[in-house]
Amino acid sequence: MGETDRIANFNFLRNKIMAFTNSQLKQIYDRSSGYCHLCHKKLAFKNYGIFGARSAWEVEHSNPQAMGGTHRLNNLYPACISCNRSKGASSTASVRANNGKSLAPLSTIKRKEAKNSNAWAGGAAGAAIGAFAGPIGAMVGAIIGAHFGCKINPDKN
Ligand SMILES: [Zn+2]
Repeated sequence: MGETDRIANFNFLRNKIMAFTNSQLKQIYDRSSGYCHLCHKKLAFKNYGIFGARSAWEVEHSNPQAMGGTHRLNNLYPACISCNRSKGASSTASVRANNGKSLAPLSTIKRKEAKNSNAWAGGAAGAAIGAFAGPIGAMVGAIIGAHFGCKINPDKN
C-alpha cells in the first residue's frame, strides 16, 4: 500500500469515526457559507477531514466538548484544520479576536438575505439617481444600482 493509499485509508477511517452524514456536513458547512468560522478562510466542502488537502476543514465544537459543549448543530461550525487543531479548549470569542474577527461568517441563508436587501437598497438608490433623467433613467439606474448592491460583501466582520 503506497503512501497516498495509506493517507486515503486513514482519512476514510477518520471520517467514519467522526460519523457525520453528508447532509449534516452540508448543514454545518452552510452555517458560515463555507468559511472557517474562526479565521474566515474559504473551505473546500469535498476536502472535509482530509488532512493536508487544500482548504481542508473539520467540524469544530464552538463550545469545546471539554467545557460541556454538545454535538448539536448550534454548537458545530466548520473550521480549517489549523484553527481547529490550535483552538483546543480556548473560547471561540478569543480565537476569533486573535484573528481580528468578532463574529462567524454569515450563513448561506443570511448571506442571500443580506445580498437581496443590498440589491434592493442599491436598486432604490439607483432609481432615485436615475429619476432625474426621466423614467428610462430610473430603470437603468435601478438595474445598475441592483448590480452594485449585489457586489457588496454582506460580511461586516
Ligand atoms: Zn481558520
